[in-house]
Formats: sequence, C-alpha cells, structure tokens
Amino acid sequence: MPRELITLACTECKSRNYVSTKNKKGQPTGRLELRKFCAKCGKHIMHREQK
Ligand SMILES: [Zn+2]
Repeated sequence: MPRELITLACTECKSRNYVSTKNKKGQPTGRLELRKFCAKCGKHIMHREQK
C-alpha cells in the first residue's frame, strides 16, 4: 500500500509549511493535526492536514 502524501498548513496564516506522509492503516480517523513551528507567524501553531 502506498503511503498517502499530505500537506500540513498553518491554521493562522494558512501557509503550507510541511509535507508529510501517513499510513492509511493504523491512523486515527479525522484530519491530522500537528503542532509545528511556522516561520511566517514566528511561533508554534497548530498545523492541519490539507486536502
Ligand atoms: Zn502561520
């Protein structure tokens, strides 16, 4: 099974700062959210998976 490529975008400025992969198996349901550093905002912001 290929891993699904996802983009993580800052929830404040909407910048797409990170690209990641996830397994379709063994992932919790719903959108992936990670707390990451946003260079544009200059602080750690929640980043959400984009479609
Ligand atoms: Zn930001």
